Amino acid sequence: MVSKLTVTNHRSDIVGLKYVYPVISRRMGGLSIGINFNTNNACNWRCIYCQVPDLKIGAAPEMDFKLLEDELRFFLDDVLNGDFYERFQVDEDKRIIKDIAIAGNGEPTSLKEFAKAVELIGKIATEAGVLPRCHYVLITNGSLVHQAKVQAGLKILKSYGGEVRLV
Ligand code: SF4
Repeated sequence: MVSKLTVTNHRSDIVGLKYVYPVISRRMGGLSIGINFNTNNACNWRCIYCQVPDLKIGAAPEMDFKLLEDELRFFLDDVLNGDFYERFQVDEDKRIIKDIAIAGNGEPTSLKEFAKAVELIGKIATEAGVLPRCHYVLITNGSLVHQAKVQAGLKILKSYGGEVRLV
């Protein structure tokens, strides 16, 4: 059975993908396309308010870039050209992509190939015509920003007009 996707229904597995998940954002008034690098629920922090289930101390696992690419291309096509909004009964006034957000079950900048992932997502979203019309966002705790690979990823994010939000 397909669920109605609402501002209160945020089940990340609702579309059955590993890395890509939809969220209807009340604050933004539309669809936020989440990308979860931390499929192992691992973070280098343990915030008291954290809502990640079975949170573990650690880093994001090795990324399957082919799968990430396939999932993002498939999902964007479903939203832009398919019947995604109808299937998930998204309210008419929320049928707009507001952002692509690297945000998931842990700290995304802990991904070893962080910059490569930021580049791939930016490239696919640009090819699909989604960027630069919507926001490209990284949600991070900022604790790994001193690492060269994170700084390289932030430069790429900036080149796509992206922005950083702290948890
Ligand atoms: S930084 Fe985010 S994922 Fe990590 S513990 Fe804090 S709230 Fe949870």
